[in-house]
Amino acid sequence: MWQVPPFVTSVFFILGVFTLYQVTFSWISTWIHSRGVSIDDDTLNTWYGVIYILIFVFSIQQSVVGQSDSWAFMNFQLIGVVFVAYFLNIHIPYYSFFPIVLVYMIFNHSLGYWQSWGHAITLMTFFWVLNIIRVKYRNRKYALLNYMLVGSFFGGILWLWMVLKFDLSWTTFWQEWIYLVIFEALLYMYITMLSQDSAIKIRLAELASHDTLTKTENFTAYTDDIRNLFAKSRSENQPLSMMMFDIDHFKHVNDTYGHLAGDRVLQHTAMIVQTVLDENDTSIRFYRTGGEEFNILFPGYEVDDTQTVVEQIFSAINHMEVYSDTDQIGISVSVGVSEVNGDDRSTIDFYNRVDQNLYHSKRNGRMQITVG
Ligand code: GH3
Ligand code: MG
Ligand code: MG
Repeated sequence: MWQVPPFVTSVFFILGVFTLYQVTFSWISTWIHSRGVSIDDDTLNTWYGVIYILIFVFSIQQSVVGQSDSWAFMNFQLIGVVFVAYFLNIHIPYYSFFPIVLVYMIFNHSLGYWQSWGHAITLMTFFWVLNIIRVKYRNRKYALLNYMLVGSFFGGILWLWMVLKFDLSWTTFWQEWIYLVIFEALLYMYITMLSQDSAIKIRLAELASHDTLTKTENFTAYTDDIRNLFAKSRSENQPLSMMMFDIDHFKHVNDTYGHLAGDRVLQHTAMIVQTVLDENDTSIRFYRTGGEEFNILFPGYEVDDTQTVVEQIFSAINHMEVYSDTDQIGISVSVGVSEVNGDDRSTIDFYNRVDQNLYHSKRNGRMQITVG
């Protein structure tokens, strides 16, 4: 005897499907990023979301194909469609949407029913309208109202097609339609809660890996990256270079112009370096590793390949103009550069060599580059 009403089971089934999605997505995302693969979370979300929902829709339909109640799981499938169209906001052009629907109809033995064609066209329109209201009204006051109106309206029409095809009673029609509307509302609330949670996580991750003053990545991010890049450089026999620089007599800047002016110098320095990197190669990574010390990692670069970028950065900082209330503050930097070599047993050996080169620059009068 099944004591729980089907509606309650359905609610938890739907929440379960999306919880599983969320959990597996974040597991995959962490797994991929820990391997240093550069794919952004939005792209991953899109691909994984579509594949997940397609498997869900087809596998759930599998058990009822060709039967007189093959409409039984339609609400679950519509919720899947709403998730892809509205919450993942995936735009599927009609020329690829049509084949998907066609494959589904062949699979569902419904090609020969005119009602199914009506249903398919309504579904495509529904998808398209969901995309539009998502883009246009997402952050407006009435986002939920728009979503519910569109969801209920199209849900009603889609169930009407089923009444025509399966000769369903009006009781069934009303019941299924109302269930769908409730599921849509629940989905909205649930996804909103999940995404607030993940927005907080994103913010925390951002804070953990970035320096708040200069917005560059911080020492923690540097430590993670150097470990991964060093290992990769070893296993794939790829070169890896590092540039390290330290602002000369920075204590003097603070003492003369004040700490706030010193902070502005650090911010400008970071901004100028990032601009040079953006103009050259976005795979080069930039970190603030100490107070007025910065590191730059060049994956795939031999030390000679870094020369142009290193010199551009050096010259840009030395010519930088930052103003205190009254004066122009001029600064210079001392630089050390090196690349991973076969004798480096760990990242420490590599780091020490770069550090030694930087100190060589300092000892020899500052404002210079030492490579070796
Ligand atoms: P050198 O040329 O040998 O590098 O001399 P220096 O004065 O730059 O080096 P030192 O290590 O003596 O001083 C570094 C100074 O950087 C000391 C510290 O007050 C300052 N500093 C570190 N972090 C910050 C920061 O976030 N803001 C400001 N304004 N100053 C900072
Ligand atoms: Mg210094
Ligand atoms: Mg220093």
